[in-house]
Amino acid sequence: MAKSLANPAESIGDEINKVVNATESGETTGTHVPVESSKEETESSIEKKLIALYTLQQNDSKIDRIKIVRGELPLEVEDLEDEVAGLETRIDNYIQEIELLDKQIADKQLAIKESHALIKRYEEQQNNVRNNREYDALTKEIEFQNLEIQLAEKRIREFTAQLTMSKEEIENAQHELSDRRNDLEAKRSELTDIVAETELEEKELIHKSELQQRSIEERLLIAYKRIRKNARNGLAVVPVERDACGGCFSYIPPQRQLDIKLHKKIIVCEFCGRILVDKELADSLS
Ligand SMILES: [Zn+2]
Repeated sequence: MAKSLANPAESIGDEINKVVNATESGETTGTHVPVESSKEETESSIEKKLIALYTLQQNDSKIDRIKIVRGELPLEVEDLEDEVAGLETRIDNYIQEIELLDKQIADKQLAIKESHALIKRYEEQQNNVRNNREYDALTKEIEFQNLEIQLAEKRIREFTAQLTMSKEEIENAQHELSDRRNDLEAKRSELTDIVAETELEEKELIHKSELQQRSIEERLLIAYKRIRKNARNGLAVVPVERDACGGCFSYIPPQRQLDIKLHKKIIVCEFCGRILVDKELADSLS
């Protein structure tokens, strides 16, 4: 079988095969008791190892799933808390903006009143002028106050438009805030439930995993843990599915699939290094 030199799976595979070969040839590996080298017994011993490994994998995957479900929820709750805080700040800012606009409009309305009062006074004064120069000066003042009124009215229109916009924004933000608060409440109770629900299940699974690990020889277990740590989704033992590795989906040639089915030795994926089991064995344990 041709192997690529730059294959990262090679060393893992070799190590696993070493463990297996040592057993097959009757050598002791650490505390491991030598196994009779009769063909039937070797096969059954490899099959037992594969069953133990795949059972452990299924159990550990359940623990992973609990961690994933719980692992995302606290983040979702945190995101929603940030969103709610952000909306509250936005609404506060709009409230301040509206207060300021109200004040600015009131100021301009007061200024218009004052201008009208001045105009009224100037018009009265025009009735009592001593000469044209005085009359013209008052006319100029009246014109100026009229311009002031126009300008103030223009500003009031602008402020009013801004006010309408801000009020719309505040309404939208309040709707959004109420939605997000509902979401937050739901997520919080979901998280509380999941923590309460999964705490016991997780403890039981961890305990089960520890028990299962005891039935697997140390070097194989170390290899399993290392592959699992490096592999995506924490999968170290995967079934062959549709002629491909169940971990990385790389094609597995028929001869290699046959070797996997024979349970004569532990075979790892040439591409990702995961331990492969045949679908029949996997299905019988699912
Ligand atoms: Zn693979």
